[in-house]
Amino acid sequence: MKKKVLLLVNPVNSYRRGFANHRTFTFPPVAFGIIAAKTPNNWKVKVLDENFQNFRYRDADLVGITSFTAAAPRAYEIASVFRERGIPVIMGGIHASMVPDEALLYVDTVVMGEVEDIWLQIISDFEAGGMQRIYKGGFANLDNQPMPFHHIYHPAYAIHAVQTSRGCPYRCDFCSVTAFNGHNYRTRPIKDVLDELELIPGKNKNIIFVDDNILGAGSEQIDRTKKLLEGIIERKLKLNWFSQTTIDIAENEDILRLARKSGCTMLLLGMEAETMEGLESVNKKLNLKKTPAYYKKAIRKIHKHRIGLMRTFIFGLETDSVKDIQNRCNYILRSSIDTIQATILTPLPGTELYRRLNDNNRLLATQYPEQWKYYHFSDVVFNHPKMENKEFAQIMKLVWQRMYSKPNLWLRFLGSLWNTRSLKVAVSAYLTNKTYAKVFLEKPIWFGENSKENQV
Ligand code: SF4
Repeated sequence: MKKKVLLLVNPVNSYRRGFANHRTFTFPPVAFGIIAAKTPNNWKVKVLDENFQNFRYRDADLVGITSFTAAAPRAYEIASVFRERGIPVIMGGIHASMVPDEALLYVDTVVMGEVEDIWLQIISDFEAGGMQRIYKGGFANLDNQPMPFHHIYHPAYAIHAVQTSRGCPYRCDFCSVTAFNGHNYRTRPIKDVLDELELIPGKNKNIIFVDDNILGAGSEQIDRTKKLLEGIIERKLKLNWFSQTTIDIAENEDILRLARKSGCTMLLLGMEAETMEGLESVNKKLNLKKTPAYYKKAIRKIHKHRIGLMRTFIFGLETDSVKDIQNRCNYILRSSIDTIQATILTPLPGTELYRRLNDNNRLLATQYPEQWKYYHFSDVVFNHPKMENKEFAQIMKLVWQRMYSKPNLWLRFLGSLWNTRSLKVAVSAYLTNKTYAKVFLEKPIWFGENSKENQV
């Protein structure tokens, strides 16, 4: 019997290749590997990934689209191509989960939340000719899940994405992770993660653990991370890996030693702001108790294990003045961070920040879905309470020019080399900074009171 075709589409924001859309930073959508593994054998799963392929219509029985907010207009555009030909389109991922009513105007079915536990039901409903408009996946049980398929992804991806845990106990105002994955930290069985890593083809595999915090919080979770890293070492998996964590990792020398030994080259720490006022304004409780001296010591400890640090900063917090932005830039330039990610505060749907700005009529790019394309962390899409929006965009242009200038990138490279004594870490940090330079040295768009877009 001829197999049915499920076409999974990963759209890219067609407005421009900004942050989160740049090929170097992007990694395969993990949900596709999970869906492919769970789809029954009477189906053939194909992937169309706009990161590496130009879109062209392909025949399929069912189309599945995932999308971040900035790529949502493109996702809807693609959906219409298939729907015009009578092919049903189902959309999942963070954007559709946060604004399902909007997504339902453009697709046939929306999957809210995690897909694992409901995918078979969806396929069975489709085969019976009765797909529902909305499915709520909730928070999946991560035990006894099949191994995600990696062979379905485009071979040009430089990195494989593997998830070992989901959920975050914090509630930062700008983050939609908890709305999607919940507050409880859920983990996959260590054996499943190790088996998955082992099955990924190639030598010296580049892996991103797409967890929100690879360390976890509390002794039980930290112990689990330790076992995971020991497993990678015991199985001689030869990885170069990167993940997100918290500065608390510096308090656990054992984990740092195992991280390095298991192939960790870089850790991302979400710093956001260097001042209490700034952190409080976005409810970043996690960092509130840490002093600059604590950070300095913690960074030194991580570097001692020859692991580089990427730190993320947000500019344009609601408490920020022009002076605060300049101070944050100076703080970053003085610090011994290896890779800097400096973004503009962006209210994503589903976050407390979005709700607050929306309630106070301070969102300016609101012609949705078209203007979602600006929600990619380098344009000014809301009315800032302390700065004129033009002024904000202009100062960001100057910040990025200073931060990612050639002399600064070279100085940071030498700093990384000195601090980590690792050429591999220094080169990787330098190349990442160089890519950020390309992304951020574009002119930011800002919106005026009349919601008209302007470029600096
Ligand atoms: S930013 Fe990080 S710590 Fe804060 S809620 Fe999101 S995942 Fe959790």
